[in-house]
Amino acid sequence: MDCLFCKIANGEIPSNKVYEDEKILAFRDIAPQADVHVLVIPKEHVASSANDINAENCEIVGYIFAKIPEIASLAGVDSYRVINNCGDKAGQTVKHIHFHILSGDNLSEKLV
Ligand code: 5GP
Ligand code: ZN
Repeated sequence: MDCLFCKIANGEIPSNKVYEDEKILAFRDIAPQADVHVLVIPKEHVASSANDINAENCEIVGYIFAKIPEIASLAGVDSYRVINNCGDKAGQTVKHIHFHILSGDNLSEKLV
């Protein structure tokens, strides 16, 4: 599969890593939309989007959220917004499920 985030997960494409373990990788977004903009991905391509999450593969989502406080702390923040874009109309451009951690003084007060 020709997937950008699979290539980042396996090191084929370099990334600015914030956190890594055997299951997940967190790295800086290449085009940050906030002072802090980190992406968190499962290393395995378990789902292309949140639409593919089900009872069998949902454990990784909980695992990611259990690690987000540590990842945010490593990025130097304890107040942040977590966003998942699901589908083209929601702005999803990379079809490997991922969560944005956004933080900083320039966050919009509105969600959209
Ligand atoms: P989406 O729009 O799918 O929710 O989020 C994809 C994100 O991946 C975007 O914020 C985009 O800037 C980021 N991105 C795209 N290509 C690369 C890349 O090669 N490296 C990194 N670090 N981020 C990327
Ligand atoms: Zn992938």
